[in-house]
Amino acid sequence: MAPLIGIVRHRLATDGQGVTTLVAFHGCPLRCKYCLNKQCHSPKGIVRTITPQELVDELAIDNLYFLATGGGVCFGGGEPLLYSEFISKFCALKVPEWKVTLETSLNVARHHLERVLPHIDQYYIDIKDINPVIYHDYTECDNLQMLDNLRWLLGHDGLADRIIVRLPLIPEYNTLQDRDHSKELLAEMGVVHFDEFEYTI
Ligand code: SF4
Repeated sequence: MAPLIGIVRHRLATDGQGVTTLVAFHGCPLRCKYCLNKQCHSPKGIVRTITPQELVDELAIDNLYFLATGGGVCFGGGEPLLYSEFISKFCALKVPEWKVTLETSLNVARHHLERVLPHIDQYYIDIKDINPVIYHDYTECDNLQMLDNLRWLLGHDGLADRIIVRLPLIPEYNTLQDRDHSKELLAEMGVVHFDEFEYTI
């Protein structure tokens, strides 16, 4: 059983290839100042709980769209990796052709990542800023675990091509120079795909 803050069908070109259904989990270890999904922190934000089999059955309504467009499911939140067990059970039950995308901050214990690794087709990693002081000011957490997990992922052959790192310009927290610096360091680590954008507050 996993608690959700929402399921959104028929997303196109926002969460990976093809038509996707976004499944957003409740709960997140970070406390980002401009969090767009604040309901993931409040018990009142849970709209429903669901089992892996129920989710497979519910998503199957869009099976033809997924197969025709190369789409599938995107797990977001909140922090989906807190539900790694649920995700791996879902993946064992789903139609094999459905693609699985993960939108994560990577700021979780390694075993969660190890558990889902065989199932994930594409990763969107929300890095915030690589500077630990900026990261802490913005999220109230440190970024050592996130960086360690990112290095571990990049150490797998061919995985860098399936990772898109999101690099935001965060008003009042970082500057263009900070973001360029993050990009430089991440490129040195082996990141090849970036999504640079600005938070609007
Ligand atoms: S990682 Fe995402 S869900 Fe979690 S606090 Fe930050 S913006 Fe909100």
